[in-house]
Amino acid sequence: MAKASRVSSPSPSTERPDLNDETASRSAARSDNALAAARAILKRAPLFDGHNDLPWVIRIDKTARGDVVAYGLDHVHKSADTDIPRLREGMVGAQFWAAFQPTKASHPAVTALEQIDLIRRIEEAHPQVFLPARRASDYARAKALGKIASFIAVEGGVGLENSLGPLRIWHAAGVRLMTLCHNETLDWVDSATDAPRNGGINAFGRAVISELNRLGIVIDLAHVSHEAMRRVVDVTEAPVALSHSNAYSLCDHPRNAPDDVLGRLKENGGLVMATFVPGFVSQPLRDWLRGSRDAYGKAPLAADPKAQFAEIEAKHGTAPKASLEQVADHIERLVEAAGVDHVGVGSDYFGGASPVGLEDVSRFPHLFAELVRRGFSDRDLEKISSSNALRVLRKVEKVGKSLRKTKAPAIGRLEDYPGG
Ligand SMILES: [Zn+2]
Repeated sequence: MAKASRVSSPSPSTERPDLNDETASRSAARSDNALAAARAILKRAPLFDGHNDLPWVIRIDKTARGDVVAYGLDHVHKSADTDIPRLREGMVGAQFWAAFQPTKASHPAVTALEQIDLIRRIEEAHPQVFLPARRASDYARAKALGKIASFIAVEGGVGLENSLGPLRIWHAAGVRLMTLCHNETLDWVDSATDAPRNGGINAFGRAVISELNRLGIVIDLAHVSHEAMRRVVDVTEAPVALSHSNAYSLCDHPRNAPDDVLGRLKENGGLVMATFVPGFVSQPLRDWLRGSRDAYGKAPLAADPKAQFAEIEAKHGTAPKASLEQVADHIERLVEAAGVDHVGVGSDYFGGASPVGLEDVSRFPHLFAELVRRGFSDRDLEKISSSNALRVLRKVEKVGKSLRKTKAPAIGRLEDYPGG
C-alpha cells in the first residue's frame, strides 16, 4: 500500500543545499503535474479494467467464504488489493469481474454459476456503487450516475463441460466476455501453459467461437496458446480481446502475446489489455522463476515449493521485482506492435503479488501519470483507458445482433463435432 512518489528526491548535500532543493522541487512539480494530468484524463475517461479476480478472493476468504456482505467491500482490505474506497481512488469506471473456475474444480459448471452469482451479489449488495452492465452503453450510464459499470466475464471454458448450451445460460445471466481456458489445455482449446492437444482449437472449439460471436460475447484470448490465438483470429467474425496479457517480445512468458498476433489485432479490430502479473511483466523475474516452473512456465513443480524457492534464492539471490515502469514499457511495446487503437489495461489484481508502484486498484492514476511523462497524448490515453475496450464491446454487440438474424443457436456436445 506504499503511496511513495515514483520520483525520488536527490540525497541531501551540505555543499549545494539550494540546488538540491530546487532540483527536488522541480522534480516533485513535474511528478505532480503528470499525476494531475492523469487524473484529468481518467475523470473524462474512467478506466475500463479488463480483469480482476475479486470474486475468487471473496470466495476463498476464510471469514467471508463467498458472502459478499460479510466480506465488506466498503472498507479498505489492507491484505488484499480491491475494495470500493480504492476502486474510487483508482478512478475505475468499468470492471470485467472474473467468474473463474479452476480447471480441476470437481464441478466446474456449478463453480462457474456460483461465481457468476457472486458477481451479481456484489452488484446487489452495493447498488449505489456498481451498475449491472450488460451493454457497452452502460459505461456512459454508470459514469453519469457516478457509478462503476460492473461487467461479468467467465474465466475458463471448463465450466461448459464440453457442451454449447451453458453459453446461452451464461449470456442470459449477464456474461459478456469469456476467457476460453485457464492454465490447462481443455478437450477443445490449447492453453498457453500446457501441452497442446488441439492444434490451437478443434471443431468443437470453432463451434464455441461461432456461438460466442452469435451471442455477442467477447472472445478472450488471454491464457490460450499462441497457435490457438492465431486459429481463433482466423475464424472469428468479431473483434477479440486479450484481457490480461503483455508483450512476449519484452517478457517471454507463453501467457504473453507474440508480435504476429498483436499485429493482427489491427485488422481484427480487437485489443490487448496490459496486465500487472509480475511473472508476465519482468523478464528478470521470469528468468529467476524459470527453474521452479515447467516447460510452459507453470508453477510449481516441487512437492515443497517453499523449499524450492529457498533453493533458487540461495543460488540466484532474492527474486527481482516487477515495477510500474516495466508495465509502462509493455504498454509502449503493445502500442508499437498493435497500434494505439488496440491497447488497454487488464490489471489481473488477484489478491497476490503485484509490481512495485501498482500495489492495489488505487494505483491506476500513477500508471497513467507515467504514460503522461513518456509523452502519450491525452487522446491516446483516453483510448487506452476505456475507448478501445468500449469500441470492441460495441462491435461485438453489433456483430452478434446481425448474426442472430440468420443463424440458429448452435447445439450439441464435443462428441457431435468429430474430426478435430
Ligand atoms: Zn487469468
